[in-house]
Amino acid sequence: MTDVNIQAMKRKPSTTKPEERNRCPECRSVSISPLTRKNQGQQASGKHNWRCNNCQNKFNDPITLVTER
Ligand SMILES: [Zn+2]
Repeated sequence: MTDVNIQAMKRKPSTTKPEERNRCPECRSVSISPLTRKNQGQQASGKHNWRCNNCQNKFNDPITLVTER
């Protein structure tokens, strides 16, 4: 028995990697939704591709924070 598995089970089951999660650069909330449209296949500069569900902020690149227990 190792403690590694126990620490892993503390986290909520998620499809995303527990180590890295995209967050809102303003409030650092993980409740962000990608603004994907059919007409916007490319990520052009100046486009707001993400929206925060917490503070309604729109941003291009979500920040990625390493989540450590
Ligand atoms: Zn936010």
